[in-house]
Amino acid sequence: MTETKKAEIRENIQNIRSRMSAYPQAELMAVIKTRTTEEINFAIRECGITLVGENRVQELLAHYEEMDRSAELHFIGTLQKNKVKYIIDKIDMIESLDSESLAAEIQRRAEKIGKIIPALIEINIGREEAKSGIFPEQLEGFCAVLKQFPNIEIRGLMTIAPICEDKNDYHRYFEEMNRLKTEIFTKYFPEVTSPVLSMGMSGSFTQALEHGTNIVRIGEGIFGKRNAADRR
Ligand SMILES: *Cc1c(COP(=O)(O)O)cnc(C)c1O
Repeated sequence: MTETKKAEIRENIQNIRSRMSAYPQAELMAVIKTRTTEEINFAIRECGITLVGENRVQELLAHYEEMDRSAELHFIGTLQKNKVKYIIDKIDMIESLDSESLAAEIQRRAEKIGKIIPALIEINIGREEAKSGIFPEQLEGFCAVLKQFPNIEIRGLMTIAPICEDKNDYHRYFEEMNRLKTEIFTKYFPEVTSPVLSMGMSGSFTQALEHGTNIVRIGEGIFGKRNAADRR
């Protein structure tokens, strides 16, 4: 990695942190998809990153041995049921729980290794067809179902908002997420005293901060643009 690249990553993280400073409830996640282990470890060891997110099982496994373990590792991508067994012992949270069958498999694998796995329910807040996550109107039913899985600890909600050309359009999505979180956790998980909201990415994190996000997930804003073929 060049010195220029290191300086860029360091500076990006500093800039984001300064924009987050008025929101002490929010944590910065570095999204590491397509990045090299060297870049990831630089962010952790030299820039104070304590939380990383990966959305591809294959990459997570490829990085895992060499990755600095001092940072918390969340899985944030689409998770196929047959892949749960590869990552269940390696991750600290699944942020992309969006189906009963996935929950059943996570339960089975977590139980097998004696682990309680924290999870966020992924909401498709823009009701976009090609996107993962459940629709807001399915959330109550899903919460009732999730109660059956003792090895999954539901901690909050996650969303990938639709891409908005006018940044003001993000507000209604993030506002709705915040409202859903309050409603649902009061009703279904009152034991969770501070439910978590994971929302806001490179292009939308300042808007998400205004609506109480607890985790902003940033990839390009930290590490630079991904190759076009890798944009996901
Ligand atoms: C890639 C990704 C991000 C980060 O996106 P950037 O635009 O690079 O900040 C956040 N969340 C999820 C689920 C992702 O897949």
